[in-house]
Amino acid sequence: MVELKNYMEVMVWQYLDEILAGHQGVCSCERCRYDIVALALNFLPPRYVVTAKGGTWAKVRALEQQFYVDVVTAISNAVTLVKSKPHHCDDD
Ligand SMILES: [Zn+2]
Repeated sequence: MVELKNYMEVMVWQYLDEILAGHQGVCSCERCRYDIVALALNFLPPRYVVTAKGGTWAKVRALEQQFYVDVVTAISNAVTLVKSKPHHCDDD
């Protein structure tokens, strides 16, 4: 079995908590977290990879080094946007 993944999405979720920890006063409710991830992914070009389910991620690790700075920058920009205008209250 193989699966198709947008590796940028994997990376954004992976670094989200780390970036959030570095920002004061940003809401980390589920709605705001998803908003941050969606915005960050809209800043980033998609990187689709085919992986064997449960297989090694060796090739993908190389992508991680290549795009780390872009991913961190995109998340930081997204956090700043969501912090200035959170959507979580709109749905209540
Ligand atoms: Zn929130």
